[in-house]
Amino acid sequence: MIIAMQAGATDEQINHICDRVREYGYAPHVIRGTERTVVAAVGPGDKKAHIESLKSAEGVEDAFPILQPFKLVSKEVKKQKSVIQIGDVTIGDGSFVVMAGPCSVEGRDQLLTTAESVAKSGAQILRGGAYKPRTSPYDFQGMAEEGLKLLAEARANTGLKVITEVLDTEDVEVVAEYADILQVGARNMQNFALLKKLGDVRKPIMLKRGLSATIKEFLLSAEYIVTHGNPNVMLCERGIRTFETATRNTLDLAAVPLLAELTHLPVVVDPSHGTGKRSLVRPLAKASVAVGADGLMAEVHPKPEEAWSDGPQSLRLEEFDTLMHEIQPYIKLRESEGR
Ligand code: PEP
Ligand code: MN
Repeated sequence: MIIAMQAGATDEQINHICDRVREYGYAPHVIRGTERTVVAAVGPGDKKAHIESLKSAEGVEDAFPILQPFKLVSKEVKKQKSVIQIGDVTIGDGSFVVMAGPCSVEGRDQLLTTAESVAKSGAQILRGGAYKPRTSPYDFQGMAEEGLKLLAEARANTGLKVITEVLDTEDVEVVAEYADILQVGARNMQNFALLKKLGDVRKPIMLKRGLSATIKEFLLSAEYIVTHGNPNVMLCERGIRTFETATRNTLDLAAVPLLAELTHLPVVVDPSHGTGKRSLVRPLAKASVAVGADGLMAEVHPKPEEAWSDGPQSLRLEEFDTLMHEIQPYIKLRESEGR
């Protein structure tokens, strides 16, 4: 349930509400907005009697049930968009953030060359997998901590922030030590042990949509991370499995404005995995800006034909530079409309 406090409610009154909902068996989450504070009480199910009794407590303006199955991530609990701050990079404030880099970290030259180039083109965040979720156990599995060190070196050289995937609960600590954002891959969207563990991490998480996940399942997975203590979650639409085989996945761009109706979490679009085809990345990057995404993730490689993973969907350095120019008018239009 949601307990909306009056505009001038005191800390004492808010704490009292938290104690009361704990007694009823719910976990209170205090969300402080610009105008007023709400207490989101999540638990086994909203009881009418509890709601009625809380309504008359001091400092309370109203109390009502949360109707959606996902609670803390829902717009019902928090209307204002969540903003994620990573140093000087802001995600979710209406600007458009670009994450770019190779599918896998393959070596020093490959990574540093890519990082310098994407930074020059205007990306703010470097991507690169050091732990790779590969369909075949015989494919390259990633450079592990050595790859993380190269990402840190690239960050030091360029000032880019770093996002990289964490595959396993065992690796959370080491990945969190090097990364600015921890990525949960599509194949792990419902790895609940991993999601719970990421609740303890003090760094932002980017949760990618599962291969066959519905929007509700996607948001419930995000709820796991938030309810376990980490509110800094962004979502990534990266395409879903459909009957269509002409593209690797079907990029669900409708998910972007739909998610904006349902959740306050920022949403990023990944047209590289979403299509599997280099030629489709630039048009869908423009579309991502137009549908209101908070950012883009794109795979970029200096020599895609030699890439150890996902070469066919990776942009060449100059193609990424073109992409950055091409999206500018769409970003400007969005800004001028105040969206
Ligand atoms: C990736 O971004 O490196 C990746 C493996 O993507 P996904 O989890 O979306 O398949
Ligand atoms: Mn990839």
